[in-house]
Amino acid sequence: MFESLQDRLEGAFKNLKGEAKITELNIASTVKEIRRALVDADVNYKIAKEFTDTVKDKAEGEKVINAISPSQLMVKIVKDELVSLMGGEAAPFNAKGNPAVILIAGLQGSGKTTFSGKLASYLKKQKMSPVLVAADVYRPAAMEQLRVLGEQIGVDVHLELENKNPVEIAQNAIRDARSKNKNVVIIDTAGRLAIDEAMMTEVANIKNAVNPQEILFVVDSMTGQDAVNTAKAFNDRLDYTGVVLTKLDGDTRGGAALSIKYTVNKPIKFISSGEKMDTLDVFYPERMAQRILGMGDITTLVEKAQAQFDEEQAKKLEKKIRKNQFDFADFKQQLEQIKRMGNLKDLMAMIPGVGKAIKDIDISDDAFKGIEAMINSMTPHERANPDVIDGNRRKRIAKGSGKDIAEVNAFMKQFEQMREMMKMMNKMPMGRMMPGMMG
Ligand code: GDP
Repeated sequence: MFESLQDRLEGAFKNLKGEAKITELNIASTVKEIRRALVDADVNYKIAKEFTDTVKDKAEGEKVINAISPSQLMVKIVKDELVSLMGGEAAPFNAKGNPAVILIAGLQGSGKTTFSGKLASYLKKQKMSPVLVAADVYRPAAMEQLRVLGEQIGVDVHLELENKNPVEIAQNAIRDARSKNKNVVIIDTAGRLAIDEAMMTEVANIKNAVNPQEILFVVDSMTGQDAVNTAKAFNDRLDYTGVVLTKLDGDTRGGAALSIKYTVNKPIKFISSGEKMDTLDVFYPERMAQRILGMGDITTLVEKAQAQFDEEQAKKLEKKIRKNQFDFADFKQQLEQIKRMGNLKDLMAMIPGVGKAIKDIDISDDAFKGIEAMINSMTPHERANPDVIDGNRRKRIAKGSGKDIAEVNAFMKQFEQMREMMKMMNKMPMGRMMPGMMG
């Protein structure tokens, strides 16, 4: 995400490395670099100019404290300004109501339906009971897509295949939800390929009829400046409550994320990357600024781990580790937890300093496949009793998993080392560990 912008900003800060103090001259050249980096990331020139003017004023106003180098100081100023450009604090999301009504709008292909599914899944995890509503009456395929998504995440979908009136469908869905004690209704509306009067009128009519708690405008972040223009057109008409930026997993330069709040004065509330139903993130300007500056995003990483962390299972695991009974079945379970956290490369990029280092390396979710194949080729008895896996059994496991015997041996050795380490930690007086972070 935003790799090129990250590189360019780092280059700009390098200008100041080794400088003993901040001067008007070195500020000017650094600021110019930053401005170019922003414009190349598809940030509107006016916004970039205003941004760097503020950075310049702040840098000139700062006395360099001994402990901080000019480049560190500049990074801090830029970070604070990025946070403020993206809206400062995270914006609250209002899902209170009887039921709460969430209207989803945006162009066709922006990711509305995918986002609707992710939002429903996210709310369900927070113990709410959402319903999805298919209000795109023009594309039967869109209704079908939502139905399939709902089935996949275990959320009810309100469908009226014969009804061509989206306002009526929305009203019926809300009434129906109330009678079934569902507390959130998410309405997925029809989009067009480009801004279109009829589409706008339709969404505005739904808005007027159902009075939503939240109107979320969904936009594809890969479309850069176009995203910003579309955001403006929708806001003029719908006066929405928040923006959802999708496809941040792609080759996004950053322009949309950095310019939207400034342009429409509406907060980005969620970001979405990937098509897995559990990769929706609340948008935190602070964390995003840290990621843009290559400082990683440990907070999100830890939250993702916690979300997958099953308390019950963790306790069982800890007991097994204490009794030196950690086995291949436990190991497999741990791998599955990590996989559920999302795309492996995105996850690793949240570790400070790692994002840049791995940007050209192809890390796919297949990274665990080999290991899983080996574990899958073991019998339940072998998984529970790693010590019985002798030479013959290893040969069979190699064959079953399509690996060669050396790979199986290497894996067995690593696993043994891991168990040794657990044993040692158990002997230590304070030897407690966090089972959820294993792997
Ligand atoms: P809609 O027309 O606005 O409802 O858009 P869809 O939800 O159908 O999404 C359009 C296409 O973009 C589909 O192929 C989705 O799988 C894909 N898509 C949606 N969100 C994301 C995302 O966050 N990342 C990626 N890579 N693809 C996405």
